[in-house]
Amino acid sequence: RGDSRAADRTVDSVCPYCGVGCQLTYHIKDEKILFVEGRDGPSNQGRLCVKGRFGFDYPYHPARLSRPLIRRPGVPKGLDPDFDPRHPLTHFREASWDEALDLAADGLKAIKSAQGPDGLAGFGSAKCSNEEAWLFQKLVRTSFGSNHVDHCTRLCHASSVAALMECIGSGAVTASFMQALQADVVILTGCNPAINHPVAATYFKQAARNGTKLIILDPRGQALDAYAHRSVRFTPGGDVSLYNAMLNVIVSEGLFDQAYIDAHTEGFEALKSHVRELTPEAMSPACGVAPEQIRELARLYASADKAMIFWGMGISQHVHGTDNARCLISLALACGHTGRPGTGLHPLRGQNNVQGASDAGMIPMVLPDYQPVTDAQVRAAFEELWNTPLDATPGLTVVEIMDAIAAGTIKGMYILGENPAMSDPDLDHARAALASLEHLVVQDLFVTETAQFADVILPASAWPEKDGSVTNTNRQVQLGRAAVPLPGEAKPDWWIIQQIATRLGLDWGYTHPREVFAEMKQVMASLDHITWERLERESSVTYPCPAEDAPGADVVFSDTFPTSSGRATFTPTRPLPPDEPVDGDFPTVLITGRQLEHWHTGSMTRRSRVLDDLEPEPVASLAPAELVRLRLTPGEPITITTRRGDITLKARVDPLMAEGMVFVPFCYVEAAANLLTNPALDPDGKIPEFKYAACRLQRAASA
Ligand code: SF4
Repeated sequence: RGDSRAADRTVDSVCPYCGVGCQLTYHIKDEKILFVEGRDGPSNQGRLCVKGRFGFDYPYHPARLSRPLIRRPGVPKGLDPDFDPRHPLTHFREASWDEALDLAADGLKAIKSAQGPDGLAGFGSAKCSNEEAWLFQKLVRTSFGSNHVDHCTRLCHASSVAALMECIGSGAVTASFMQALQADVVILTGCNPAINHPVAATYFKQAARNGTKLIILDPRGQALDAYAHRSVRFTPGGDVSLYNAMLNVIVSEGLFDQAYIDAHTEGFEALKSHVRELTPEAMSPACGVAPEQIRELARLYASADKAMIFWGMGISQHVHGTDNARCLISLALACGHTGRPGTGLHPLRGQNNVQGASDAGMIPMVLPDYQPVTDAQVRAAFEELWNTPLDATPGLTVVEIMDAIAAGTIKGMYILGENPAMSDPDLDHARAALASLEHLVVQDLFVTETAQFADVILPASAWPEKDGSVTNTNRQVQLGRAAVPLPGEAKPDWWIIQQIATRLGLDWGYTHPREVFAEMKQVMASLDHITWERLERESSVTYPCPAEDAPGADVVFSDTFPTSSGRATFTPTRPLPPDEPVDGDFPTVLITGRQLEHWHTGSMTRRSRVLDDLEPEPVASLAPAELVRLRLTPGEPITITTRRGDITLKARVDPLMAEGMVFVPFCYVEAAANLLTNPALDPDGKIPEFKYAACRLQRAASA
């Protein structure tokens, strides 16, 4: 905490990192952020984690871009170990905005005229504000002429959204995480909130202290185990087996809520007969949980008056991620645990605006508010609004776009704030695809790993430098306010997108994000009764919201679900093995994810002094027994090999890990975890299996 007397002024805003959406205040001196304090937002009540509190100085990093860059002739595209992002003029030259924008747009135009709309694609980012996400998908749809627009939600909760849309007709949470304070039982599964949603974790701790029974189901241990009524570790990839066995117990012991099922659901009889054979005894070998323990878990959840399920990417990032989420939804529906305070389904969303960027339509199969591109009536409404015919074919998803580039179909891309050269699975493949693009435009704060493949780099705005709304995991739409000036010639992202749009023949004319928000409201019912002025006044409004002078709904679907029948659906699932089970050659499970101090590919947090000082280098976390087996002491280098490549990094002992698995964060370019990951996709959510790859561990040659 800094000295508030030293600040010239303060500006209220929102944390730019995770989906919790903590509200904060920037304390500013001489037009620079001095320090940050939490303020009394609905999802944080003054609390901040280490990222929100200390990760504010990345905009001032020496590598920050302040002028447009154009690749120098003859410099090959790709990651050059000698390239220093603080001195990019070895590989790029500075350009005026007009020259850079003309070059960016001309390259896109040339590919469209040679290849047609399918020759181009766009990746946005869940770091974009709602307004930026809206403009970006509008640009791709109305100018590129296709639906090839996606972003990192594909890599985090696409399977959760697919299951939620299918079963309950809405991809957002049914209740905020604050509702955990009112629940009797809370299941946390496939998530590690103390690391990934730290302020949400404080509510779970508070609930447990007040008597809520916390049940943690995960292959790994975690800090919240200390607060848990039960913490059960299951075999990686055994989740569908575990949940089906719990459903079997609920059905066979008659623990379901027949009145709720009759009033609100369909398909329960099919689910009942489907799970009849999936007994705890039958499922126990696959999930590694004893039958009696499975029975106890099912009874605890089903017999609670109010219970909630929270899940994270341990659920979604599997080839059976959608099935995992379907199971959790079935558990809630069977027990009547939705639609009341203290009940609900809550996929903990990862990035600060992954909910809002998806709501705003930055996904390839739906227009804003999840309205299918295949629906002629939906398209007609957007065609009228945008005065342009729209493509009726769903576009390609993140990994599919990389495959299409590799196949030579897609030849040009516009990437806004996304870093696929670090975040995509099987990075050698993804990086080779990026290098093969005829034309790549990257808009970002730094010469990221992805920008090192770009023809043109457009210097963008950091979160404290711009106005915009974001929507957190609780469906709370919140306002971020420009607090400090942009450096050099860097520009607001909405301005840059509009400049590209103008050069591609579109006539937009926005002068401020509030005008974009007003346009969104014309076709996004989710924003009804939420106005920019109201956000300026209240800072946060939850959707759906019944009136301009009423609060939004913290808990939804009390009476009906937004499906054609008004009912939710049970979707039975069959346990499936991981795409790449462990075997004699690759006997260990590789799990990738985030660290507390670093966020996603690290482009911001690794340029934040305190955060990078806390976790400055890549580490592989292993159970103590694994280090003994490998004859390693903590800190010695270990090589991890999968069928796609190998990396060497320091071994860290972690008593929360089980034998037979290793955890590696994916934010370090020095030992990029995604060089190892499996690009196999969930068939419904098209999400890669980041949470399971078969690998081999060895002492590194230098150990
Ligand atoms: Fe920011 Fe998330 Fe930490 Fe809150 S919990 S301060 S939103 S990173």
